[in-house]
Amino acid sequence: MNYTVQQIAEITNAQVIGDKNLLIKNIAFDSRIIYSTKNAAFIAINTQKNSGEKFIESAVDRGITVIISEHQYPQFENITWIIVKNSVEFLQKLAQHHFENSNLKSVGITGSNGKTILKEWLYQCLWNEFPTVKSPKSFNSQIGLPLSLLQINESHQLGIFEVGISMPNEMDVLENIFHPQIGLLTHIGTAHAANFYSEEDLIDEKIKLFKDSKVIIFNGDNILVNRKIREIYSSKKLISYGFNQHNDVTFKNNISKNEDVVVTYFDEEITFPVHQRDEATLTNALALITVLKELGISNDKIVDKINALKAVEMRLEAIEGIKNNIVINDSFNLDLDSLKTALQFLNEYKKSKKSLVLTDIIGVNTNSKELYEEVSELVNEQHFDNVFLIGEEITKFKDLFKSKTFTFIDTQELIDNKYLIEIENQIILLKGARKFEIEKLKDLLELRKHDTVLEVNLNAILHNINYHKSLLKPSTKMMAMVKANAYGLGSYEISEFLQHHHINYLGVAYADEGVELRKKGITTPIVVMNPEQHSYDAIIQYNLEPEIYSFRVLELFYEAVQKSGYDKKYPIHIKLETGMHRLGFKEYELDQLSQSLEYKNLKVQSIFSHLSSADVPSEKEFTLKQLEIFEKNSGYLIKNLGYQPLRHILNSSGITNYSSHHYDMVRIGIGMLGESANADIQKQLQSTVSFKTVISQISLVENGESVGYSRKYKTDHLTKIATIPVGYADGIPRLIGNQIGNVGINKTLAPIVGNICMDMMMIKVDDIPNVKEGDTVTVFNAKPSLKEFAEYCKTITYEVLTSISPRVKRIYIKD
Ligand SMILES: *Cc1c(COP(=O)(O)O)cnc(C)c1O
Repeated sequence: MNYTVQQIAEITNAQVIGDKNLLIKNIAFDSRIIYSTKNAAFIAINTQKNSGEKFIESAVDRGITVIISEHQYPQFENITWIIVKNSVEFLQKLAQHHFENSNLKSVGITGSNGKTILKEWLYQCLWNEFPTVKSPKSFNSQIGLPLSLLQINESHQLGIFEVGISMPNEMDVLENIFHPQIGLLTHIGTAHAANFYSEEDLIDEKIKLFKDSKVIIFNGDNILVNRKIREIYSSKKLISYGFNQHNDVTFKNNISKNEDVVVTYFDEEITFPVHQRDEATLTNALALITVLKELGISNDKIVDKINALKAVEMRLEAIEGIKNNIVINDSFNLDLDSLKTALQFLNEYKKSKKSLVLTDIIGVNTNSKELYEEVSELVNEQHFDNVFLIGEEITKFKDLFKSKTFTFIDTQELIDNKYLIEIENQIILLKGARKFEIEKLKDLLELRKHDTVLEVNLNAILHNINYHKSLLKPSTKMMAMVKANAYGLGSYEISEFLQHHHINYLGVAYADEGVELRKKGITTPIVVMNPEQHSYDAIIQYNLEPEIYSFRVLELFYEAVQKSGYDKKYPIHIKLETGMHRLGFKEYELDQLSQSLEYKNLKVQSIFSHLSSADVPSEKEFTLKQLEIFEKNSGYLIKNLGYQPLRHILNSSGITNYSSHHYDMVRIGIGMLGESANADIQKQLQSTVSFKTVISQISLVENGESVGYSRKYKTDHLTKIATIPVGYADGIPRLIGNQIGNVGINKTLAPIVGNICMDMMMIKVDDIPNVKEGDTVTVFNAKPSLKEFAEYCKTITYEVLTSISPRVKRIYIKD
């Protein structure tokens, strides 16, 4: 976009206070990821749950001078205000105007599953055919779609936008601002179906998007979808795809066989090799082909493009590097959009020094001077300490970059040069076109090299937190339990992420865990659940808040506060015993407790208790009793205190099962990691943790031979055995050997055979087609799931996670 403040005000009927002639090219809605303040405005978005206005201050701190808001805050000086009636409606109106005045060919994707992957695939196939704009990620459509549309500029010829809805009537608003020429309806599944009366209602709502479309491409395997679209949109060009042979676009041959697949597109045939044969991937491939055909791409090109598609790794990985660096690896593709996204991602890390490796941008048709001017502007805003440029094109524009800049013809030259590996204590962003293979730099800079990793998906954690939040009143606070190294996943990394997403409290078990977080820069309030006697000084020094569960702890902690010279009321959290019989004050102690607290220089920040069986449906009666005791005893204590501390009692399963007892705060743990004992809730959560390794060796073992220690497995035919480099020292219990447990390869389970060794184990891979050395093995994630793995181990998911040895490398991914 490119509007003056005055134009924006005219389009949206807003009021301007300040400079009407300023030019706005970019609207930021998240004050934390403002990557450029030039020609940018910040919009304070108010939703039912949140007021964006509290972030105006941080946007101003970052240098923003134009604010779009429902209210003016005169305390900020030299700001131009665009005052609007309703921030969300403002965005929608501006986006509608912007879209309708662009000359863009547009694809609108809706459906329950596969939207994001199809959008990314289409983008990968099309961005070097036409200048293309797309939705950056899959955020909330009511706000995300308008923000995406506002990214359209004059040079774009094609726009690919994802439109998700979860509630009835949402599509009316969205269709009003965005009417795609080509409508694409992916699979309709049960996601969000709960908010609709019936599947039919859900379909009706989704296909409203296509009211003004010329062409509708849809998955015709769903009979109801097929019927509805043909009924409602009979006058449009309709193309159905799917496995079912009645579709216009389908597979000719048996796709389960290990050969090239043949797609019939009306009366044409297109043959291409596939690498993944699962149903979802193949269905998406049909949709992709259909859209590419519709956009006039030739069959030969389509085959080439599909061959070039890797499984979409559209994620940025953050890796622990050598010399205390953090390495952000985004070596998959490079274009302006993805450069922006990567720069935003960088801003989320608090390292003061940073370096960038950047290559030529390949395959865009624009004038290269203009292109690299824009690139250098984006890069200069970030004030990198070093910039390493690779490639013949970009190095010509070296002088545009204001940092200390080095130039190289190719990646190997940079590796040979050794500048890069001298960097210490920085965040290093690797951003390059695929051709340059800068992932080689990642190998060079990565700290430990292990094939075995525990991969933690931070996006999934956020999804799970937001799901639980959606069950709470907006005013209810949330504490995230990050005890025991955040259930084994990495206490600092998880806490840093949660802090960034405004979690209200963190909970740790021991003071040391809290001290470590403070030392690394976590400032969110931290409660220590088991404050040990020797740790009180550290607690006070590092501003941690202890759980006080007995008179002994109360007296000793109070003494420590007095000795420390702390002169305000020190925050503490009172734990009540309500039936768990672990820690806490009992009912008969409450009078004495109130008296003790009265004359002490302590502030009761919260009163809480813990449910023993919130996840056990058959113990509902007991749980209700616990809740009743809590209500009564906390109420009694509050009356005596004369002020209102926060009250909280629910853990993750409590949040979902006892929704009328959220009180002022809830304490989430396993739920944020995507686990629930309740099957319906489980469906709404995303799996967060993936424990992966690779096959070290495959052997054909003759009939009658034995495998592993003590000869516990004997073959009864010529058997294919794979050895993988994880064992009981990595946290895999030895008791799941001997065919009790399984691991997953290519989504198929393979049994563990023989005894598990300290660092290795053997699995039987007879039934896995095409298995080869170096293939990825899933210890747990999707198949087997964490829950299934815990069942093999005869334990609960919590113990599985906390048992994974520290030597297994943790890596963190975010979109
Ligand atoms: C660990 C813990 C929680 C979180 O429990 P989940 O079952 O993982 O949600 C909540 N409260 C307290 C006191 C805890 O120790």
